[in-house]
Amino acid sequence: MNMTASAADRLAAAREHVRALDRNDPLAPLAHEFVQPRNTIYLDGNSLGMLPKGALPLMRRTLEDEWGQGLIRSWVDTDWYRKVSLLGDRIGRLIGAASGQTIVVDTTSLNLFKVLVAALRLAPGRKRIVSEASNFPTDLYMVHGVRELFLGTELVLAGRDGTLDELVDANTACVLLTQVDFRTGARHDMAAVTRRVQAQGALMIWDLAHSAGAFPVELDACKVDFAVGCTYKYLNAGPGAPAFVYCAARHLQHALQPLTGWMSHADPFEFGIDYRPAEGMQRFLCGTQPVIASVPLAASLDIWEKTDLHAVRRKSVALCERFIEWVEWFAAENGLVLASPRDAEARGSQVSFRHANGFAIMRALIAQGVVGDFRAPDILRFGFTPLTLSFEQVLDAAIVFERIMASGAWRSYSNARTGGVT
Ligand SMILES: *Cc1c(COP(=O)(O)O)cnc(C)c1O
Repeated sequence: MNMTASAADRLAAAREHVRALDRNDPLAPLAHEFVQPRNTIYLDGNSLGMLPKGALPLMRRTLEDEWGQGLIRSWVDTDWYRKVSLLGDRIGRLIGAASGQTIVVDTTSLNLFKVLVAALRLAPGRKRIVSEASNFPTDLYMVHGVRELFLGTELVLAGRDGTLDELVDANTACVLLTQVDFRTGARHDMAAVTRRVQAQGALMIWDLAHSAGAFPVELDACKVDFAVGCTYKYLNAGPGAPAFVYCAARHLQHALQPLTGWMSHADPFEFGIDYRPAEGMQRFLCGTQPVIASVPLAASLDIWEKTDLHAVRRKSVALCERFIEWVEWFAAENGLVLASPRDAEARGSQVSFRHANGFAIMRALIAQGVVGDFRAPDILRFGFTPLTLSFEQVLDAAIVFERIMASGAWRSYSNARTGGVT
């Protein structure tokens, strides 16, 4: 195809190529293990993952048998109590954490609170928390709440107050970073950043919201101190599914989180007056955990255990590279600018483009069945989930995108941010 052909012609000519990629894709069969939404190309699995089919019978069994028949006996008979650590260890295998360091509990925001306080307590005398101006708001808001309690603690932000290396000093208790930027998909080098932070005696906390299930993560090998993350994004556990928290084994004896509910007690059924934290990751629990809301996570992990994250990453890079290449055929003349790093190594599993009318364009895409999302002020965001997507779907998404831009069809949508796009 020569360079003077229109982008539409070049995209149409890519059909045979992507069909061959799909035929040779070892992950292709796994897409059938998810409920495929009708008339939709779903590029938002980085925000809310798709429903694993296996969740339906598992949910039925949990409701009808375990709850309906077993009732209170099921806490012990069917391991409801142990779910938090059994599921935690299964997530641990996806994030390079040996067993006993990861537990499934509460929400990412709550777990941020726990690890931030635990980190401050492990670093007495140090008064600084370092994060990034571009971090996801809940991370910064949770630091705000912690600062209100730990008077004299300051929050400094890379990208606003200086560079990370300038800001991490001998007064720094901990550094909280999200590995993959939720707007641009830019990815930190976990090993290198952790090393630099710890060289200053500070503790490293990673938010893995856009990492877990997106590519291989090696928490133990990188000697990370704490990590948190969601299960409802790349891990497909469903809206509001419980999150996870990781604490390196070397800290478990000393790390104390502040939400000292009875489930974090060394012996909850002693019903005693005095508080003693549980020995292991149990101490990161607070109260009774949502058994039913954690069921789809088990079904999802059954699928994840059929592949490995290196294969997932290879396909993720291939999908993202092709999408960028295809959109670049029509981007410049339509005012679209790549917001993600062009180098795959520096990117997570999403691709973002900037456009002043990004909201209207995303509404037009969604109306045509291509579901991505929008992040103010001007980011069109597309998530690539290798377990659920085919190369042909991604080509079709690029074709719809090209038509909407070339025809100006997006102009009939308002750019005023109201409903319709999450
Ligand atoms: C999605 C996301 C969260 C979500 O936190 P919740 O408590 O589950 O609402 C937290 N941090 C980052 C970086 C995220 O992208």
